Amino acid sequence: MNQPIFLEPVFKDRIWGGTKLKELFGYEIPSDQTGECWAVSAHPNGQSVVKEGPYKGTSLGDLWAGHPELFNSNSKVFPLLTKILDASDDLSVQVHPDDAYAGVNENGELGKTECWYIVDAEPGAEIIYGHGADSKEQLADWIHQGKWDQLLSKVEVKPGDFFYVPSGTLHALGKGIVVLETQQSSDTTYRVYDYDRKDSEGNTRELHLEKAIEVTTVPQAYVKTNYKVANQPGAVVTTFVENEFFTVQKWEVGGTADFKSSDKYLIISIIAGEGELSAEGHKYPLHKGDHLILPVGYGPYQLSGKFEAIASHE
Ligand code: ZN
Repeated sequence: MNQPIFLEPVFKDRIWGGTKLKELFGYEIPSDQTGECWAVSAHPNGQSVVKEGPYKGTSLGDLWAGHPELFNSNSKVFPLLTKILDASDDLSVQVHPDDAYAGVNENGELGKTECWYIVDAEPGAEIIYGHGADSKEQLADWIHQGKWDQLLSKVEVKPGDFFYVPSGTLHALGKGIVVLETQQSSDTTYRVYDYDRKDSEGNTRELHLEKAIEVTTVPQAYVKTNYKVANQPGAVVTTFVENEFFTVQKWEVGGTADFKSSDKYLIISIIAGEGELSAEGHKYPLHKGDHLILPVGYGPYQLSGKFEAIASHE
């Protein structure tokens, strides 16, 4: 039987980043403005690397290309990207293209549909999620005139909330929020508004207004995702979303739970607590902040302890 593949994340400095990735997850972060942990990534802009076992030191992209039997996928590239984001300040208001638009305009990149599980939020913290314009013309007018209060819809968030953010949705994380993000493996962002911030050299970040206006869905369409909750001995599995881009679940383990092998490879991120994964006499400790892939067909296996994980697959 294959082994679970534990991965070493990559960290990114951001002007809106902070130190919560260290405080909450114990990661060694490169600076006090660390915004992103690319936890499970085969994107060329930052690849996770296998931590231990027979593939130790291999990048996820090379593992994907060299060992298709671990994944059994039809996708050309590793299609997903799991991140943890520390928004110690407001992120820029942004929008991402879909596959068709990115394929033509961004050198064949994937589009970016994403979703957020709120791991931590200060009281009153808000996200920007959608807009109130009725037509493209109104959207363009309000953007060009800087009528942000009129345009942008805000939602207060708390730990445990989940948000589905399809491509074409204007969005931004607000100050004081930590999320686990599951997204298509893409790094294409069209920035609409950056609060007129300047970096340490006095430069503002580039905006991409025309592309943003082009790809933003008008009027706002909120896609309803119906949660499914499955109780089993020792675990509660909540499915937040299940569509052509990804399936994302929360696993709450308390005690010992049996899991069957899956016909998909699974991406698992431990976001709270600790426990153990065991199969065929092999035991692997699981700690908050661990990220691993269970290869296709791995198992049956047991999870024990008290922890929460976000699990996803294509
Ligand atoms: Zn985004």
